[in-house]
Amino acid sequence: MKFVIAVFATIVMGSGADAFSAGVRKSARVASVSVKDKIAGELDLPCEDECALESFPNMPPSVHPGVVTGQALIDLLEDAKSRGYAIPAVNCVSSSGINACLEAARKNDAPIIIQFSSGGSQFYGGKGLDNKNYAAAIAGAVSGAFHVRTMAEQYGVPVILHTDHCAKKLLPWVDGLLAASERYYEKHGEPLFSSHMIDLSEEPIEENIEICKDYLKRFSKIGMLLEMELGITGGEEDGVNNEDVATEDLYSKPEEIYQVYEELTPISDMFTIAAAFGNVHGVYSPGNVKLEPKILTRAQAYIAEKLGDKAPVDKKPVKFVFHGGSGSDVNDIQEAIGYGVIKMNIDTDTQWSYWEGIKNFEEKWHDYLQGQIGNPEGPEKPNKKYYDPREALRAAEVNTVKRLNQCFADLRCVNILGLGIAKEAENVLGPRRGGLPV
Ligand SMILES: [Zn+2]
Repeated sequence: MKFVIAVFATIVMGSGADAFSAGVRKSARVASVSVKDKIAGELDLPCEDECALESFPNMPPSVHPGVVTGQALIDLLEDAKSRGYAIPAVNCVSSSGINACLEAARKNDAPIIIQFSSGGSQFYGGKGLDNKNYAAAIAGAVSGAFHVRTMAEQYGVPVILHTDHCAKKLLPWVDGLLAASERYYEKHGEPLFSSHMIDLSEEPIEENIEICKDYLKRFSKIGMLLEMELGITGGEEDGVNNEDVATEDLYSKPEEIYQVYEELTPISDMFTIAAAFGNVHGVYSPGNVKLEPKILTRAQAYIAEKLGDKAPVDKKPVKFVFHGGSGSDVNDIQEAIGYGVIKMNIDTDTQWSYWEGIKNFEEKWHDYLQGQIGNPEGPEKPNKKYYDPREALRAAEVNTVKRLNQCFADLRCVNILGLGIAKEAENVLGPRRGGLPV
């Protein structure tokens, strides 16, 4: 088991040594040798004890590297609420985008949420494929989920694997993903995805709540969390245009938020609410967005009062989600976090950063990218090392990591796990299972 020793030596000598041993002391988990652990052992890969899901120095013991579900997921979100940070939730459409997220999370010593929209899921599966009955979107999201599951542990960070807006007509998409999670649960004792969002904010509130209750019942059997939306997020995203909705629909009322809380809680506490407080998808000129984060604190106070003795000590019964984070003022973001926001979505700004990376790369090497042969250094010079797709895509990833660094800072989601900030995305908890997926 030379590899094990080498890995251990790297850990001990690396900057994360103290953090690692603290993590070992704190870990309450002991691995049982499963079939896949045995296979890894036969292949002389670091497993057995190394396969135990390790916990982080500054996290609840249930939270481990890789995709978190069930109690670990709730513990992570509660940790965010009590320590006053929110976790960035980034829409991804490719393995390259996912890797940039994992890299940024490790560099910031933080958890991250990776999510797919239905359009993003379809893209992940390939736009050349027929999407009849959302089959391509289902398969695409499952494919993305396995990529995240395989790579997240290698980066050594906890990841919440989520899907974004699912309007009524898209429910067959989430139905397919839920079936995939139920099947995964039978084999592994946890769902494939951590959570799904059901967005029935365009339907009457009674119908919205009733359908959410049905889904939460199924989710709660396999340790999944539901994100529901109340009120409408303005703007345009993933082909859904809410640019002309009535202003009053952009702001949720405390009574409505309480209604949701009261009806969902008896089923399960594994839900979050994307309440509307003037959020808008997309980036518009300053002055067009009037965020009112105080709506969230008024709702928390209203619900805490209704709950009386049963209210949590922090008087923040609800875990809120902030949609339309791109382009928002950092003061509004941090105020919202103080009122119980534990997740903020970012899509438009990382779409831009990804593109901008390619744009800058092309500008810098323009004269080397006009043909396979011939550049300013000579008419015979080959340009392969410039047009290799890895060059432009890596430039996109690097620029996206840079943008995400700002996002982690805005959300106070830095130095969270206790592994230390990493200049490069090294995994101080060790390459787990030699790269074998969960
Ligand atoms: Zn949204």
